[in-house]
Amino acid sequence: MSSDLHSENKTLRRRLTAVLANARHNEERMRRFHEQELRLLSANGLVDLLRHVLVGHRQVFGLESVTLTLVDPEYEVQRLLADLGCSDGFPELRFLDSASALAGFFGSAQLPKLGSYRSEQHAALFHLGPPPASVAVLPLLRQRRLIGSLNLGSREEGRFIPGSATDFLERLGAVVAIGLENAINHERLKHIGLTDALTGVHNRRYFDRRLVEEVERVQRTHQPLACLFLDVDHFKKVNDTYGHQVGDRVLQEVAARIKAQLRLSDALGRYGGEEFSALLVQTDSAQALDVAERIRAAIAAEPFRLGGDHNLTVTLSVGMALLTPEDCCGALSACAERLVAQADEAVYRAKQGGRNRVERGG
Ligand code: GH3
Ligand code: MG
Ligand code: MG
Repeated sequence: MSSDLHSENKTLRRRLTAVLANARHNEERMRRFHEQELRLLSANGLVDLLRHVLVGHRQVFGLESVTLTLVDPEYEVQRLLADLGCSDGFPELRFLDSASALAGFFGSAQLPKLGSYRSEQHAALFHLGPPPASVAVLPLLRQRRLIGSLNLGSREEGRFIPGSATDFLERLGAVVAIGLENAINHERLKHIGLTDALTGVHNRRYFDRRLVEEVERVQRTHQPLACLFLDVDHFKKVNDTYGHQVGDRVLQEVAARIKAQLRLSDALGRYGGEEFSALLVQTDSAQALDVAERIRAAIAAEPFRLGGDHNLTVTLSVGMALLTPEDCCGALSACAERLVAQADEAVYRAKQGGRNRVERGG
């Protein structure tokens, strides 16, 4: 009898130790989870958040692979990231044109899916490095709409087992989805504040800011910077003849044709009314004059087709000014102002000289 009691006592003790160890393990997991949650909620912008999600999760939860899939049918998030200078910054991030493939994957339950890695189901989600042994794929939902998935991969076969409790993972998915939506909204607002609504190119505020940055870059890298001012010729006549709406469409087309001649690293802004300004980085005067001439020709050579009988020839005048490292001493704002004044003065001369031409200032 006493030996029975003794052995029962031992069994109970063993169980208690196991339960306590499990509780400690869960407590530790919870603590790490809360810390990570706080990091996600206090992320400073979209890039910072993506870094916490993609790099942070891997480290905090000891995973081999963390990737993110985002539904981005209009390439909006991709454009926002490009604007943040981060187009290729996250190889773990992939975009989908539509939510349908993911919706099929999760089915109507829209819950995390845990289990062994199967290449036919998971290869598209875990596109980097060797395939994991077990995976957890978390739906990212906002108002029941699927915006993407967070994909966690472990080298351990037993890490993610089908049928295990997913409260932690559901919560993690919810926090990531809210964080992403907030960060994207925030970047969207910033983007709107720096974009011209009519033409979609940058606005004056962006241009002025970027100008100072680029002038600073001239001082730092000793590479010249070219500035173009582009003013549509006799634009008032377009409005007076065809109406303001046709005028608006002309401005949109002018912006698109200018943009098509620039590199990704250049900046184009609508400076005001029918005036555009461009910054061509690391460009000398011969190259800048060449770009200016190409823009002038791209506008003048092909009539603007605006529907109905409106086929009109539009021209513009261009002023180019160059900031060389030698000129670029003293206050940044003074150098920037001088560059803009020289480009503006060159446009004025192009107008005086008969319009539809390029002049060099300075
Ligand atoms: P110039 O060749 O000397 O540059 O002559 P211009 O007629 O282009 O120049 P002016 O500065 O006299 O007129 C510019 C016109 O641009 C006047 C203004 O109504 C028009 N404008 C400014 N912003 C917009 C806009 O957003 N949409 C339209 N449709 N017109 C605009
Ligand atoms: Mg003007
Ligand atoms: Mg004009």
